Amino acid sequence: MKVPLSRPDITQLEIDAVCEVLRSQSLSLGPKLPAFEQAFCQRIGSRRAVAVNSGTSALFLCLKAMGLGPGDEVITTPFTFIATATSIMMTGARPVFADIDPDTLNLDANAARAWINSNTKAILPVEVFGNPAGMDTLCQLARDHHLKIIEDACEALGSELNGQKAGTFGDMSVFAFYPNKQITTGEGGMILTDQEEWADLCVSLRNQGRGCTDNWLSHERLGYNYRLSDINCALGLAQLSRLDEFMTKRTQVAAWYQARLAEDTRLIVPESPQNGRMSWFVFVVRLNESFSQADRDALLNDLRDHGVQVSNYFPPLHMQPFIAEQYGYAQGDFPITESVSQRTMALPFYNNLLESEVDLVCTELIHAMDRLPSLKNSEVR
Ligand SMILES: *Cc1c(COP(=O)(O)O)cnc(C)c1O
Repeated sequence: MKVPLSRPDITQLEIDAVCEVLRSQSLSLGPKLPAFEQAFCQRIGSRRAVAVNSGTSALFLCLKAMGLGPGDEVITTPFTFIATATSIMMTGARPVFADIDPDTLNLDANAARAWINSNTKAILPVEVFGNPAGMDTLCQLARDHHLKIIEDACEALGSELNGQKAGTFGDMSVFAFYPNKQITTGEGGMILTDQEEWADLCVSLRNQGRGCTDNWLSHERLGYNYRLSDINCALGLAQLSRLDEFMTKRTQVAAWYQARLAEDTRLIVPESPQNGRMSWFVFVVRLNESFSQADRDALLNDLRDHGVQVSNYFPPLHMQPFIAEQYGYAQGDFPITESVSQRTMALPFYNNLLESEVDLVCTELIHAMDRLPSLKNSEVR
C-alpha cells in the first residue's frame, strides 16, 4: 500500500511515557489510571471518568450501570460501528434502529420518535465520523420522553456543538482509543458521567464486581475484567496532551481533501457543521445518488489496486446477518441508511498524511471515476 487508511501518531513523548511505567513496576491499577481519568474529566468537563479496556466494554458497562436488560429497548442508529448495537445486545436489551438524517448521517430525531414505546428506556446516539450535528435535538427528545441518553462519542473526541463538548450530551458518554481514533491507548475506552452512583458501579463492574473495600477477594456482584493497564493509561495521557495539535493537523488534512474534491459534482464531500466544531475522525466522501453500490465497489477496488487503502464505512447494521435474523430486519427497513451506505468511501486520513499524499489519493480517485464506464459523463446524467 502506498497510502494506508489510518495510522497512529506516536512520538518520543509516548515512548517515554510507556517506558516510565515499565520501569516503575506498577503495571496495573497504579497511578496512571486515576491520572488518565482525571485528565479526561478536566478536558471534557464531567464529574467522573472511568477508564476501561475498550469502547465496547465502556458502552456495555454504561447500559449495565443503568440497569438495562431483557425486555428493555434502546433506540439507536443502523449507520455506525457494530459495537454500538452489540453492546446493547450483550445486556439482553433490544437494539431498535431508526433511520438517519441524510445530511449529517446521524440518528434522525423524528425517525427515532416513531419507535418510542413503553419498553423504550434509552436512546444511544452516535456522532458518526466525528459530526456532533443533531445531538441537541436528540437530547431534547430524550428529555421529553423521560429516556436516558448513552452518548457513543467514540468517533468525536474534541467535537463541539453550540459550544457544548461531545461527551457531555449523554447521561453517560463513551470514548474509545483503538489506534484509528483521534487518540489511542492501543486498546481502551472511557466512560464519562456526572452521576456518582453509575460511575461507582462501573468501577466495580470493570474490576470483577469488587466493592470499594481493600479485600481483593471480596466480590459484591457479577463483574468483568475490563481494566485498562497503566501502560495504556500512560500512553493515553501523552496522547490526550497532544489532542489540540492532533485536531489542527486533521483539520488541515480535511481542508486539503475539500479543496481538491468539493467541486466535483460526482461526490458529496463532508463539512464541519455550521453551529459546531468537527474533530475529524475519518474522511468519508460519497458518490451522488445517480450511482450504484456496484459503481462504488468498483471504485474501491480500483483505488486499492493503485495502492490507496480505502473502506466502505459503514454497511448497515440491520443487514448484518445475525442481527437481521435475530430481530427480523430486512432490506428496505431503513432506506436512507441503505442508500447512503451503498455510496460511501472512507479515504486515507490521519494526522501526518502529507499534502502530496492527499494529492495522490485525489488524483487516483478522480482517475478511477473517469475510468469506470458507468461513471463517464455522469455530470450530465
Ligand atoms: C470505535 C468505536 C467503538 C468502540 O470500539 P472498540 O474497538 O471497542 O474500542 C464504539 N462505537 C463506535 C461508533 C466506534 O467508532
